Amino acid sequence: MKAAAFQAIDKVTVIDVPKPAPAAGQVLLKVYDCGICGSDLHVVQHGMAMRPGSIMGHEFCGAIAELGAGVSDFRVGDRVTSLPYISCGKCEQCRRGTGMYCEHIHGLGLGQLPGAYAEYVICGEQSLLHLPDGVSSREGALVEPLSVALHGVKRADFDRGAGCVVMGAGPIGLATILWCKAKGIETVVVSELAPGRAELAFKLGASAVVNPNERNPSDKVRELTGREPEVVFECIGVKSTLMSAVHLAARRGQIIVIGVCLEPDEIMPLTCVAKELRIDFSMAYTHDDFRETIDALATGRLDAKPMITDVIGIDEVPAMFNALKRPGSRAKVLVEFPQ
Ligand SMILES: [Zn+2]
Ligand SMILES: [Zn+2]
Repeated sequence: MKAAAFQAIDKVTVIDVPKPAPAAGQVLLKVYDCGICGSDLHVVQHGMAMRPGSIMGHEFCGAIAELGAGVSDFRVGDRVTSLPYISCGKCEQCRRGTGMYCEHIHGLGLGQLPGAYAEYVICGEQSLLHLPDGVSSREGALVEPLSVALHGVKRADFDRGAGCVVMGAGPIGLATILWCKAKGIETVVVSELAPGRAELAFKLGASAVVNPNERNPSDKVRELTGREPEVVFECIGVKSTLMSAVHLAARRGQIIVIGVCLEPDEIMPLTCVAKELRIDFSMAYTHDDFRETIDALATGRLDAKPMITDVIGIDEVPAMFNALKRPGSRAKVLVEFPQ
């Protein structure tokens, strides 16, 4: 089968590898769609600890092609998505739906186990969730990034009349806008430099989009609500954005850090103390976050389709990784396989 693998810094290639076979408690999934994630781009640019030949891709859905021994809740042909890991399924964390803290976790597409930039991928039964008919396969591949945003938005503690700032309109920022709106937050001001992404932020429900070099997003929230932003979502994850969030947040406000900055960064504690700020860090998602996202897509509470700007085939993956160094107006790029 064809797959796209990390080879070296700045090098992704399409390779041909044998189709894997599911062990007990696992299924073989025929991949339909797999999203390219910002963290895949980070890994390819910096190498991190990824071994050459690792198949990436952790935002996916597909149909079950083969069942391993002992799999009882799923059938061949079922359309599913999966949390991108195989965990033990038995420990306290797994039973609570927080398998990401399982001691025996192995990530899919993140260097440990092969991911879904491939015609087939092996998944663990305990990480699978059915996709109802109302959720297309392209939307199925958005469940993972949407759940990242949901997990962050659920940590926010503010009344609906208050406004918030979403810093960054990349895929996670866009997903955060969607969830804020779905949760009844009326005023969502987005801070974004790239005009193409600003346009997408509007499409997904932003009340206003501000270029932070031209205008303070916090002032825009005050103009719309009469109050400063009670919550600031940091969805960029580069050096110095956390301190910008500190400046934007209201006194006694809250900052939710969803973006992942990979280098040491500085904040000014005195400013945080003077404002009595709360800074919450948000990581990944739970089983329940996935379920809530799937329900919201099925019932039309979320319309995430405008997040998808490109759909490509597996052979185009290396060139797209190159192109995404300058994303321009691209947001979510899906790698699609013939069904
Ligand atoms: Zn991701
Ligand atoms: Zn476990």
